[in-house]
Amino acid sequence: MADAHDPAEAGNRSTRLTVLGSGDAFSGCGCNASYLVDDRVLVDCGGPVQVLMPRVGMSVSSLDLVLVTHFHADHTFMLPLLLGARAFTDDLRQGLAIAGPPGTREYVTRLLSTGYGRRLVGLIDERIRPQWWVLQDGATERIAGYSVTARAVVHSTGPSLAYTVSRGPSPVIGFSGDSELCAGLRRTIAASDVMVCECTGWEEPAEGGHLWRGELEQLIMEFPDTRFVLSHLRTRGTVAGAIMAHDLLGLDIDAPGIASLSG
Ligand SMILES: [Zn+2]
Repeated sequence: MADAHDPAEAGNRSTRLTVLGSGDAFSGCGCNASYLVDDRVLVDCGGPVQVLMPRVGMSVSSLDLVLVTHFHADHTFMLPLLLGARAFTDDLRQGLAIAGPPGTREYVTRLLSTGYGRRLVGLIDERIRPQWWVLQDGATERIAGYSVTARAVVHSTGPSLAYTVSRGPSPVIGFSGDSELCAGLRRTIAASDVMVCECTGWEEPAEGGHLWRGELEQLIMEFPDTRFVLSHLRTRGTVAGAIMAHDLLGLDIDAPGIASLSG
């Protein structure tokens, strides 16, 4: 059945990638990690998504799926505010899918109950009716009309996942989450037309299970068919062959490459 909310059904095969937050954890280089595929899939919620989505003409009520890469604060601590905003919006839609590594439901519930108490947990259950998904290395699931593949990556906390997200014939967008160089990261890049990849270190390797500029230059050479968007930045500069993210950057992507860029 045709879905008026569905860009693929509407004949539009391009994908809109929006960087809501481009900064690393502590530098203040940008809001913390949060990305959109179209206006329907949110990857991580480190930035104030309920503030940032309206700034790019979108509403939290359009989200169908939230993907969590790992449980660090700069990727998750705005989740209670996003879920609260969704629960209290006028154009409420139920059935938001929330997917992440094992323990995601317990972790998010703990964030909510610590921040706002059990009453908000009950209210969000009642008004949003979250659908919880557990994703692990190698899992491919169709969630909210999107194909999502998770791959385990190596970071300073576990479990940590990288994702590829696509819809029908539309381009495949990859997200590294936080990761050092590892097989799961390389498999995710190889499967992606456009890869949103963290680049935390600039002049030298970054501690804590992160990538740095020298490694990104190597990966860009290694995967010439993948277009890199570098984010999770501690420092802003240029890397040959890559697009550097900034907050509220929007990219319209037509397979096999980026057709237009705005933001
Ligand atoms: Zn991070």
